[in-house]
Amino acid sequence: MAGTSAIEVVCVKCKKSYEADSIEHIDLSEDRDMIRNLKAGKANRVKCPKCKKVMYLDRSIVINFEPQSLIVVFDTKAKSAAKKNDLRREYENIIAFNEILTELAEETEFKVISDLSVLKKLINEYAKVYM
Ligand SMILES: [Zn+2]
Repeated sequence: MAGTSAIEVVCVKCKKSYEADSIEHIDLSEDRDMIRNLKAGKANRVKCPKCKKVMYLDRSIVINFEPQSLIVVFDTKAKSAAKKNDLRREYENIIAFNEILTELAEETEFKVISDLSVLKKLINEYAKVYM
């Protein structure tokens, strides 16, 4: 199951604020129905309950390429090396406090991707082998 969290969104059109589920974590081996939207850069789609305006949330998504040992953080804002390093440090901090995760991380490659075409290529390669 995809991991989500409830966040506050303000509609760009009518300015109504509403709560929406933002996808934070996707497991490619389980969340197959999301792959199409993910490849289109439209994973986090929300709709205003008042005026029906559709928006795409600009938030980072952790993607697990199970059974490949690869974890990707996709964040279109992580263009710079500094921002990529921030996300990597965040990842390292999270796993440092969990013994199971620390062990897992030793065998897992971690990548930060900001370019949708790079993500698309990875997912297509994954799909060729595992789907
Ligand atoms: Zn609206």
